[in-house]
Amino acid sequence: MDFAPTEEQELIRRTARDVAERLLAPRAAARDEDGTFPEAELRELGGLGLLGVTVPEELGGAGADVVAYSLVMQELARVDASVAVAVSVTNMVAELIGKVGTDEQRRRIVPAIVSGREVAGAFALSEPQAGSDPAALTCAAVRTGDRWRITGAKQWITSGDHAGQIVVWAVTDPGAGHRGITAFVVPGLRHGTAGLSVGRLEAKMGLHGSTTAQLVLDGVEVGDDAVLGGVGGGFRLAMMALDGGRIGISSQAIGIARGALEAAIRYAGERETFGQPIIRHQAVGNMLADAATWLDAALLLTLRAAARKQAGLPYTREASMAKLFATEKAGQICDLALQVHGGYGYTRDFPVERAYRDVRVTRIYEGTSEIQRLVIARELIKAAGA
Ligand SMILES: Cc1cc2nc3c(=O)[nH]c(=O)nc-3n(C[C@H](O)[C@H](O)[C@H](O)COP(=O)(O)OP(=O)(O)OC[C@H]3O[C@@H](n4cnc5c(N)ncnc54)[C@H](O)[C@@H]3O)c2cc1C
Repeated sequence: MDFAPTEEQELIRRTARDVAERLLAPRAAARDEDGTFPEAELRELGGLGLLGVTVPEELGGAGADVVAYSLVMQELARVDASVAVAVSVTNMVAELIGKVGTDEQRRRIVPAIVSGREVAGAFALSEPQAGSDPAALTCAAVRTGDRWRITGAKQWITSGDHAGQIVVWAVTDPGAGHRGITAFVVPGLRHGTAGLSVGRLEAKMGLHGSTTAQLVLDGVEVGDDAVLGGVGGGFRLAMMALDGGRIGISSQAIGIARGALEAAIRYAGERETFGQPIIRHQAVGNMLADAATWLDAALLLTLRAAARKQAGLPYTREASMAKLFATEKAGQICDLALQVHGGYGYTRDFPVERAYRDVRVTRIYEGTSEIQRLVIARELIKAAGA
């Protein structure tokens, strides 16, 4: 067992650290304040291959492995969690199309989103009444002649208003349960797609630099070349993409928590009470020690899931464990980091306040903590043959 990153993983991690510090750090707090979507930043990250870390180079990606992807997500989220979530969804969509798309789809769609030319990709699975339970989707695609007409509403779609390409899940056979769901790649609003509009943009607790859109599809027409992975195969694709996506979100949580912990350690070394830096008070040291230990444990779980995915081994259980543990502990770490800052931590003058808000959603999207426990328990039952 080797815990050291390979030369390639270290190189891409350093690239992500450098660009996060140079490009993202200077305006991260301002983007949070004014809610600016990081369009120019995403284009630049695309130029570095970071919107398609595991996508082959011939399709415009970095051609790196899943561990490298986790490291990239950690580095970006350490500085700006809003940018990181847009990057994560774009990677997820690009990887999915790269894996299951036809040659024509791969060549037409993947380079456009991973290069940053079309800014981002979006993943439109959730609906107002269907989040944890995607089998309850009602958005429908009806065959008319040689076209599909898609009608329905999609809820909570990260970058949904900016994305160049959107993977939309719709019911194509209402009587067939989850076997009646199909994924379609729909050109985004920037293509002027008829029938596609934004219902509303959510006003969120955190991630203010990331947009979360309700998308309305009112008879959006696409051809068979938009069907991704075959008619009726959508549910399986969504589950496959979410397994990988969970490695991205646990990495995002680790990155946010690492940024908060580093800030707390710095602050605890500078702030003095009772004649000494607060880091010398055992209660403060204990908080930092717990946080650092949880962070390393979260990292190891996440790297294990990433290594298994890279090796082609089953990793559903490992990805859910990583997401469950990393996101829950990241929330606690951000809370402790804020506590170490005392009253100053509760103000917008210090970055831990943003981390505390941003980290909360990692326990909700791409499967809530409760759903991760459900997945893990199901895998345990399967393994026990019960
Ligand atoms: C900022 C943000 C960005 C998002 N981005 C995207 C995106 O890009 N694409 C996309 O498709 N979706 C996205 N989502 C949606 C997200 O994945 C869902 O919000 C999430 O899956 C939960 O669904 P829900 O909100 O409908 O909650 P519900 O499913 O209604 O759950 C409500 C509560 O009940 C619990 N619960 C539900 N079922 C069970 C069960 N069987 N056992 C135990 N507990 C259960 C849940 O854990 C939760 O606590 C995003 C959400 C947010 C907030």
